[in-house]
Amino acid sequence: MKSKPPAPKRSSEASDLADLPLFAPKPAAPAAPASPEPKPAGPSRWRKLATWLPLFGLVLLLAGVALLVPTGLDEQGIFLPPNRTLPTVVVDAGHGGHDSGALRNGLREKDLALDTALRLERQLRARGFPVVLTRRDDTFVELFERAQVANAIPRALFVSIHFNDNTAAAGDGVETFYATDKIVPNNEGWSITGMFERRHEPPPADNGFAFAQCVQGAVVVGLDITDRGVKARDLAVVRYARCAAVLVEGGFLNNPREAKKLAQPAYRERLATAIAEGVAAYERERMDSARPGKIAGS
Ligand SMILES: [Zn+2]
Repeated sequence: MKSKPPAPKRSSEASDLADLPLFAPKPAAPAAPASPEPKPAGPSRWRKLATWLPLFGLVLLLAGVALLVPTGLDEQGIFLPPNRTLPTVVVDAGHGGHDSGALRNGLREKDLALDTALRLERQLRARGFPVVLTRRDDTFVELFERAQVANAIPRALFVSIHFNDNTAAAGDGVETFYATDKIVPNNEGWSITGMFERRHEPPPADNGFAFAQCVQGAVVVGLDITDRGVKARDLAVVRYARCAAVLVEGGFLNNPREAKKLAQPAYRERLATAIAEGVAAYERERMDSARPGKIAGS
């Protein structure tokens, strides 16, 4: 290796130079620089290409990766990690503070609603859903503010928890409500631009009907209870919430048999688990219908 002198290399470069059109024994001197002959320039070009080719390849690879990553994360968020694909569930414990709700058989609706809401939060988190509660203690929150919690979240689902009280007769079973139409609260951040934004607000993709069906179905199965069905009613919280929103009436407090069951923490845990199952079922349904190639109605 040592014995190898650098001279031949230089001489080869020199011969390359000698081959260049400038040194070529061509008579037409002005034409030479304008049209260099491809044959003598060849070896030098190939060497340059060999030097830059790996770098060029690396740039292409990086560009490819940069293009692939955002498109992979985009469409419906299907390729995102599970915790990023799921919507935030806003769990609303009905009543609270000065508003006790139904008071029957030694039970207060506001207490049962909060207890079930906290159980539902744990059940939803266990399934990977981010959860926000409208209240975590015995305080009253205005109906409009409850909906606003969901409206402040880009992608949300809203579940309000209540218990029934029927003075006319002891009803039984579970029912889930949704709003037939949505309205934007009047006192929402008043401004000139806000007025225009409200005017052009698109209708919601789901007024809550499909969501209500999933939740009601799961609760009826989970509690093995009378199915009072899914009902459209313009209740304030579900109406104000822009996202798919439902209000679950988880049983009748004035019905001694149901009140006895609802007084048990294990039963409320079953109720919360069933609601969480309903939320997960709705989300699965939504993801399936959003998947490309899905046949509508199948
Ligand atoms: Zn209520």
